[in-house]
Amino acid sequence: MGEIGGFLKLHRVDFAKRKPEERRLDHKHYYSLQPESVLRDQGARCMDCGVPFCHVGCPLGNLIPDWNNQVYRADWLEANDQLHATNNFPEFTGRVCPAPCEKACVLAINDEAVTIQQIELGIVEHAFNAGLIRGGAPARRTGKTIAVIGSGPAGMAVADELNKRGHSVTVFERDEAAGGLMRFGVPDAKLEKWVIDRRVALMHEAGIDFRFDADVGGTISIDDLRDRHDAVVLATGSRVQREVNVPGGDLQGVFPAMDYLYARNRAVAREEGREGAPADANADELCAAGRRVIVIGGGDTGMDCLSNAGREGCASAIMLDVYQELPGSGRTPDSPWPLQPRRTASTYALDEGGQRRWGTRVTSISGENGRVTEVHAVEVEGTSSADAKPIPGTEFSLPADLVLVAIGFSHPEHEGAVNDLGLELDARGNIKAGAHATSVEGVYTAGDARTGQSLIVSAIAEGRRCARVVDAHLTGRPQPLALGAEVPGATGEEIPAPPRSTR
Ligand SMILES: Cc1cc2nc3c(=O)[nH]c(=O)nc-3n(C[C@H](O)[C@H](O)[C@H](O)COP(=O)(O)OP(=O)(O)OC[C@H]3O[C@@H](n4cnc5c(N)ncnc54)[C@H](O)[C@@H]3O)c2cc1C
Repeated sequence: MGEIGGFLKLHRVDFAKRKPEERRLDHKHYYSLQPESVLRDQGARCMDCGVPFCHVGCPLGNLIPDWNNQVYRADWLEANDQLHATNNFPEFTGRVCPAPCEKACVLAINDEAVTIQQIELGIVEHAFNAGLIRGGAPARRTGKTIAVIGSGPAGMAVADELNKRGHSVTVFERDEAAGGLMRFGVPDAKLEKWVIDRRVALMHEAGIDFRFDADVGGTISIDDLRDRHDAVVLATGSRVQREVNVPGGDLQGVFPAMDYLYARNRAVAREEGREGAPADANADELCAAGRRVIVIGGGDTGMDCLSNAGREGCASAIMLDVYQELPGSGRTPDSPWPLQPRRTASTYALDEGGQRRWGTRVTSISGENGRVTEVHAVEVEGTSSADAKPIPGTEFSLPADLVLVAIGFSHPEHEGAVNDLGLELDARGNIKAGAHATSVEGVYTAGDARTGQSLIVSAIAEGRRCARVVDAHLTGRPQPLALGAEVPGATGEEIPAPPRSTR
């Protein structure tokens, strides 16, 4: 625990944030850590609550009160060990996790939560600066080889864990660089890409082989990979985007959000001189500069579109969100503490500009000469997109030059590896797997490909659990007693998928 009674006298001090008008001019992190003395005070606010609900809030079961206490006592070395005991990549979650742990913090019942995420980032960056995080290879190799398909957070976590257990791991990635949606969805303002490169370099040093531009099920045969490896793990994410399905949805200038985010992330990579980022053939079309942008969908994907559009110098940006505005904390009667709130009141993107119109549904898109000019919508009432009912007389139209559709993802791509292997799917079209083993022997799955679109922290947790299952199947070794939230699935029982997110 932190300081006895610390929470009574010390108040929450959040990440320092750059002014929106300043940060809109670049692609650097919009936030920064408070000094170590402030972080230690924040650790002191952790109040020995007896039942730390933060553990339950965190899909990784992070040992939060322990490292809060160690930071308070300036024991950064032990704090880093404890942090890495449950999380392979705290530098990712410390930057972009929505911090479900903080929503479940006991102090948050009637005060502001402990700044858990900031302390997490403080610990791992302190450790990097002190040279405590190094990429050592395992002392012994088992002779077993594993192909991991996909280098998002799930694939990276599986690879890291299996490599630590002595197996030889090759990661096959379709894109030109590692990170999955962390690299090509999340903008640099939230996660500068050197953070991913730094970790990948350590993993490479530790003996993991990364093959980029390797499309499994396309240019590389999945059967061939199965023949050449003792196990194959599909960590290919949930990449099929939902379509808007209204008249005019196929006009020129209407794009799936991920097309835009891929293009923007690659453009920033090129601007910064990072090698390998191809120019997009559609670059002129996928550009927000000087354009009136409408974003359909109010989740994180839509927010990231908004923030990019602002940085490109759009003429205006309006987000149409089918959900109703919720007061204050975004909680509803069915989502009290320690559950997660339903909606976020504001985000970094909205702080920088743009406008969100709650409770609106797009009814059609119109245009001239095949190109979009207007989006038509109506106000709705109801608690979810499924039961939203139009309010007569509230129809409106907005001028538009670029429309970005950010209404979520339905399931992983089936074309390619999934169909080639004839894998069983669940009712939502995700790869069916109880404790990560699919319907085909020797083929496993983890992350969004198994659960549907979720969070980086959940993908890392999935990757860790999957690695334990693969290791146990390959070696017959008992799975080590799991820490925290890692317990489900360790004995082979069905692991429930986390609730769907609205990304
Ligand atoms: C725009 C956006 C913003 C987000 N922001 C956040 C956030 O701020 N915080 C948060 O916690 N979560 C966020 N998420 C969700 C989070 O990024 C995902 O849940 C997480 O990345 C899933 O990890 P994954 O490894 O399962 O899949 P992915 O990250 O999707 O990675 C899958 C990888 O597999 C590769 N692949 C796919 N098919 C093949 C193939 N056939 N051959 C080879 N490689 C293949 C892909 O190229 C990709 O690299 C966001 C999602 C989006 C879309």
